[in-house]
Amino acid sequence: MQITGIIGAMDVEVAILRSMMKNARTETVSGIDFIIGSLEGRRVVLARSGVGKVFAALCAQTMILKFGVTEIVNSGVAGTLTPELHIGDVAISTACVQHDMDTSAGDPVGLISGINMIELPADTKIADELDRVCAAANVNHRLGVIASGDQFVHTTERRVWIVSTFNASAVEMEAAAIAQVCFVNKIPFAAIRVISDEASGDVKIDYMTFVKAAAATSSDIALRWLRARA
Ligand code: SAH
Repeated sequence: MQITGIIGAMDVEVAILRSMMKNARTETVSGIDFIIGSLEGRRVVLARSGVGKVFAALCAQTMILKFGVTEIVNSGVAGTLTPELHIGDVAISTACVQHDMDTSAGDPVGLISGINMIELPADTKIADELDRVCAAANVNHRLGVIASGDQFVHTTERRVWIVSTFNASAVEMEAAAIAQVCFVNKIPFAAIRVISDEASGDVKIDYMTFVKAAAATSSDIALRWLRARA
């Protein structure tokens, strides 16, 4: 039996999905509410992890160990790193990187020691399904690398560095942590991130203005994806 885990970092990223869950019960672990039920006819565990890599990782690990999810999708908002993605457009992960992981005194920047990887690959089947869902919904979207780090990226300097170092198309703060947890647990994973800001310039104004609509689009794509599989 497949159980799909859906993680959003913030309330605004899970509110719509939570309101649509059927036969739901809630269990709280480490301060995170896990909502167990069904969505679009599929078994789903939904959680708001909190912002940043640590909360995202503990949320993913709990979903796997305690609630037995067999796949995880991360739905939320992100800053764009490419002229091909504007506010409201969708980034789908082909891989995730941790742009703030740096043991570069001896290693390439971004290398995660132990597993010795920079790019944590997304599940190609889920990424393909999300690609098709976005195409069918007529949403401008790109598949590419999503970069995560414990920083709200708001300067051109950092943005340019992340692009030139990782060739990433969107930046946020959780997906690569979930990707790492999923990789070591052999759980399929992909991220849907809708652009809320340009990750430079007037980023704070953009983010505040567009976060809600971007989060709603991401939830809509997640719902269409579940529906397409049912
Ligand atoms: N005080 C805010 C913090 C939001 S941080 C709160 O808790 O409500 C921004 C969130 O949106 C993170 O979860 C991150 O994944 C995403 N995000 C959107 N734009 C981003 C950017 N330019 N850089 C980093 N993360 C971004």
